Amino acid sequence: ALEISGVHKWYGAHRVLDGIDLTIRPGEVTVILGPSGSGKSTLLRVINHLEKPEIGHVSVNGEPIGVKRQGDRLKELSERAILAQRSRIGFVFQNFNLFPHLTVLDNVAAAPIATGKLGKTQAQALAKELLERVGLGERVGAYPRQLSGGQQQRVAIARALALRPGVILFDEPTSALDPELVGEVLAVIKDLATSGTTLVIVTHEIGFAREIADRVVFIDGGRIVEQGPPSEVLDKPQHERTRDFLSKVL
Ligand code: ATP
Ligand code: MG
Repeated sequence: ALEISGVHKWYGAHRVLDGIDLTIRPGEVTVILGPSGSGKSTLLRVINHLEKPEIGHVSVNGEPIGVKRQGDRLKELSERAILAQRSRIGFVFQNFNLFPHLTVLDNVAAAPIATGKLGKTQAQALAKELLERVGLGERVGAYPRQLSGGQQQRVAIARALALRPGVILFDEPTSALDPELVGEVLAVIKDLATSGTTLVIVTHEIGFAREIADRVVFIDGGRIVEQGPPSEVLDKPQHERTRDFLSKVL
């Protein structure tokens, strides 16, 4: 399970996360909703320790991320140990973040090679398989700039899968795409959701959330305002702020 316990994050006097507690079961699909500036991206970045929380911690299967227990204190792990942990948490960004100078195949094969998990031949075989899974088996030799945004995002998803992560985080994976390309990316994410991968997805695609989420978490001002199955949070929101948000995005 992915466990977020009492997480506070602030920049100067600005509290961006103000006490987040969330436990996500293996295989669960969680959609995070909230207004701009509510702390959604920061929460994802805290989960894989791209940002360090001021208070609280995140653990995956009982193992704290970025820190280790020393007596009753928590001590920051080495950069190398943090990178090893991060490799078990996939991250898909809004703007794809592919390596522009590498082919699609090498983009996907790079991490298993760099981390020493696989040799080059095996990594490339895995990359081919993953690219086929996201519908890009024919484009393995292309460079990112030769692909559409939707294709690039599908490569980014294949790349996230290459390290066989226990959980994949998505930060608005379709919001940089032209509307006609959104569907192909959502279809790939849906395929992951139904195959039992643990997913945490920040998105404004409410219809998609309703379709795939086990749980919807609405965040405002760095706090969880309400959470529950889509049939509750999306269809019968209890809080004024949730109703107000949904009326703007629906
Ligand atoms: P959006 O929907 O626009 O992506 P968000 O919910 O993802 O918003 P965050 O990016 O998590 O929001 O930012 C939350 C708040 O924290 C914002 O007010 C932002 O300006 C602030 N913030 C984020 N990163 C930093 C930083 N590195 N330094 C200072 N303030 C930051
Ligand atoms: Mg964001």
